[in-house]
Amino acid sequence: MILHLHNGTSADQAEEIAEKTQSVYYEKDGRFILITPSKLQEPPTSFAEEIESSFVMSSDIQLASRSYRNEVREIDLKHTKIGGSTNNTIMITGPCSIESWEQIEQSADLLKSLGITTLRAGCYKPRTSPYSFQGLGLEGLKMLSKIREKYGFNIITEVRDASHVEDVIEHADIIQIGAKAMYDHGILRRCGKARKPVLLKRGFGSTLQEFVQAAEFILSGGNEDVMLCERGIRTFETKTRFTLDLCGVSYLKEHVNLPIILDTSHAMGYRYGVPDLTRACMAMGVDGLLIESHPNPAVAQSDAAQQLDFDQYWEMYSSLEPIAAAVGRNMV
Ligand code: PEP
Ligand code: MN
Repeated sequence: MILHLHNGTSADQAEEIAEKTQSVYYEKDGRFILITPSKLQEPPTSFAEEIESSFVMSSDIQLASRSYRNEVREIDLKHTKIGGSTNNTIMITGPCSIESWEQIEQSADLLKSLGITTLRAGCYKPRTSPYSFQGLGLEGLKMLSKIREKYGFNIITEVRDASHVEDVIEHADIIQIGAKAMYDHGILRRCGKARKPVLLKRGFGSTLQEFVQAAEFILSGGNEDVMLCERGIRTFETKTRFTLDLCGVSYLKEHVNLPIILDTSHAMGYRYGVPDLTRACMAMGVDGLLIESHPNPAVAQSDAAQQLDFDQYWEMYSSLEPIAAAVGRNMV
């Protein structure tokens, strides 16, 4: 159950109510919001005076639930907004990893020529092998900050583990939590205290319930700006890298109030399938599309097989425009 306390309830009172109801709580604009275990089905009568409104929940998908807020949350991404009544679909692109100044500048020029403003590149890569390229780390973050200064983009980059979470929060405009970090409660809780939007990727072995509950760790820390990213789950199929769960996307659209971003690159794993899949996702009217692109994918240090070169990105982008128009979305 979610309890909104009256404005003006003191921090001591809020803490006492939270303790008695075993709640997690946060403060937003002078109001305390408490989240009790979902099995509580009646608001506690002993605190009737302090409670302004209560929302009964059927599972621990609470703050993210449509029963709490029956809308897609609006999130301000500095250069653009998504969710709410915007009908915006944010086009997030850039290389899997930042590799050099020259590479990231070329990527920035692609975005500029398309008129889109959200550049992504990883600096701390969650590689499956310790012998693969691990990312440029802090040096990469600093380059991304310079790119922001030069082009005025939103920068999205991922946090891999707790060792560099502060650096990523400092340098990013949008913090990406990768599929493998979805269960890292240290990262989730720290991002709950960050004042920047978070893009949370679905773990490839996670159910939708687990996925959204991971988002609840961030939301219940007081960060209301969380986007969910479906990037493919592991199934028995081995011909493609993962299986993009579009049924799951329909479920989320129906039941969850967070904007939904689709990552077709990591789902497919091979560039030949990415444009078709991305068109299918646009037709679903999602809030964002994350597609990896690289000036020369053949020499990419990570995810070389799935990144589009700039011509391929342009071609795909142009083919998305009529689909976006047909389903009432604005590509931003
Ligand atoms: C990435 O975005 O480059 C990445 C590593 O993705 P994921 O966490 O989905 O595997
Ligand atoms: Mn990648």
